[in-house]
Amino acid sequence: MLVSAKEMLNKAKEGHYAVGQFNINNLEWTKAILLTAQEMNSPVILGVSEGAGKYMCGYKTIVGMVEGMIEGLGITVPVALHLDHGSYEHAYKCIEAGFSSVMFDGSHYPIDENIEKTKELVAVCNEKGISLEAEVGSIGGEEDGVVGAGECADPAECKMIADLGVTMLAAGIGNIHGKYPANWPGLSFETLEAISNQTGDMPLVLHGGTGIPAEMIQKAISLGVSKINVNTECQLSFAAATRGYIEAGKDLQGKGFDPRKLLAPGTEAIKATVREKIELFGSANKA
Ligand SMILES: [Zn+2]
Repeated sequence: MLVSAKEMLNKAKEGHYAVGQFNINNLEWTKAILLTAQEMNSPVILGVSEGAGKYMCGYKTIVGMVEGMIEGLGITVPVALHLDHGSYEHAYKCIEAGFSSVMFDGSHYPIDENIEKTKELVAVCNEKGISLEAEVGSIGGEEDGVVGAGECADPAECKMIADLGVTMLAAGIGNIHGKYPANWPGLSFETLEAISNQTGDMPLVLHGGTGIPAEMIQKAISLGVSKINVNTECQLSFAAATRGYIEAGKDLQGKGFDPRKLLAPGTEAIKATVREKIELFGSANKA
């Protein structure tokens, strides 16, 4: 049912497109993303942060929900369930709970310790057929209370981590989480190119996909980015559509207060955002 992200990302790297990782927060989010991926015949990665994991009552609840939904909705495109920015402890928790992919974010450790812990997880994940994402050079902005400085990763360090046998590598290239400030200098393609040259076939991951201009996304894909994380953008479109529904007073008309009605415009808005991203990333009809 759930698959590792390895095959879909290797195919993406080879075919010069990227697979979207869309973070989930609840049932509506998950349903919207799965239905859109199916409709567009695209592989998809569902991202779960530790905070969202806690919100959704633990990793086992999420595995149950996602697996049940894949069956109930008749989803046939490849779906990976992935821990986003996992700590060492939570990577193990997700492996145990049945996730098909995990990220171990050891970027805040000294490089030797990042290497040591990543190496250990490579062995565990290989044994279980789970894909593993590692990170070098922290990514700016705030995610679950972890604030990164938005640095550019050292290509030599990227090579050291890639050589451990991870499935995919996230490396800071000036990207940040959340909304981009007006004075953001843009992605460092020079860094990306240097990392790409050092890491060869390794699929590279671009975090903080919200608000990066389309032409920068396309250039990043051409330089080896094969997975792009989208989180904030779905939250913004969900919130705007829900605000529109309430401000129009629709919750006060008839049974407009029914959660299945109240949450419907937001769910549709997530679908529209996911559709737009799948088109931009080029993963439609690549399932
Ligand atoms: Zn991230």
